[in-house]
Amino acid sequence: MTFDFTTYEGRQSFYQSTIWNKIKRYKKALNPLCEHCLKQGKLSPTVDIHHMIDLEVLPTFENATDISKLVSLCKSCHTKITNQKKAPIWKPFNMKDFNNYFS
Ligand SMILES: [Zn+2]
Repeated sequence: MTFDFTTYEGRQSFYQSTIWNKIKRYKKALNPLCEHCLKQGKLSPTVDIHHMIDLEVLPTFENATDISKLVSLCKSCHTKITNQKKAPIWKPFNMKDFNNYFS
């Protein structure tokens, strides 16, 4: 089975595949607790398995299936990471925002 990771449809069909299901279950068994929370001394059950390197950025089968490039996350950490990804990392300087900040 081959997947075209360069397209949204290809990535979706991978996420629905048996192979991804098996990888997810294996990773969950390895790290049943959210790895992010664990670093802060919190214990939260793993809900989602996250690709450290986004499949959109590195659209290869190796990146998609390499256990060492996956991280176990709870719902709240996964939501946080996903939102950070969507948010602009760098915003051009804006005088209005600057003034609002100090008002
Ligand atoms: Zn967490």
